[in-house]
Amino acid sequence: MTTGYEDRMAPLDGPFRFACDPSVPCFKECCRDLDLILTPYDILRLKNNLGLSSEVFIEEFVIWDFSHDMGFPTAKLRMSDNAEKLCPFLGDEGCKVYPDRPSACRIYPLARATQKHARFERTTDAYFLVRESHCKGFERGREWTIEDWKKDQGLDEYFEMNDLWTAVVCSPFKEKRGKLADRDIKAIFMAAYNPEMFKQFVFQSTLLSRIEIDRGRVDKIRDDEVELLRFGLDWLRFVLFGESTIEVKS
Ligand code: SF4
Ligand code: SF4
Repeated sequence: MTTGYEDRMAPLDGPFRFACDPSVPCFKECCRDLDLILTPYDILRLKNNLGLSSEVFIEEFVIWDFSHDMGFPTAKLRMSDNAEKLCPFLGDEGCKVYPDRPSACRIYPLARATQKHARFERTTDAYFLVRESHCKGFERGREWTIEDWKKDQGLDEYFEMNDLWTAVVCSPFKEKRGKLADRDIKAIFMAAYNPEMFKQFVFQSTLLSRIEIDRGRVDKIRDDEVELLRFGLDWLRFVLFGESTIEVKS
């Protein structure tokens, strides 16, 4: 997979120096004209930050890319329709959704490559430093280890949820499947990107009566959209690829 960053990326094997705050001369310069992928967890956090339903958020802020080899829908943030193509969440003081900014904004200036082993039970990470030419953040600030940066940027929960999405998109069973059908794409839109609709489906269909699921998990997915998303991603691996992430009652 290419990221478009290859010419600016260097493997990271030690600490790096970086600082970004309103005093940098390039402040806000990076928040424009971006090809910014939104993961299902990014969208969940952003739509809740803005107090919007998934449907309204997607209508307003998402453009879809279907170039994935299987036809998986990839959500990308729609930049503003002005000459500078500013990020719609950029305000005078900086990022207006900062506590819930997307994964791609959090991780910069790092990039992460993951390798999955043994049907996604184990992950190996490699990190790279991305040096954008306009970014002055490398000339100042303290030294960071990767672990410190992850902690400071709240990345662990994003990585955990994004890895669950990667487990769907890169299922080891995908070679057997071929292109996704329309009904598969509808299932993905619902379970990964529309928790309100997926919750209705879970609790108003016969699904829960047909699968092995303990009471505690049912309560969690009723009350917590993050748990609902976790369940939705398990469900997608089951319905799209026949993985044993959901157990059907005998
Ligand atoms: S270009 Fe770099 S230093 Fe400047 S605002 Fe963006 S991330 Fe911060
Ligand atoms: S979401 Fe925030 S940090 Fe990310 S590009 Fe937009 S304004 Fe910048």
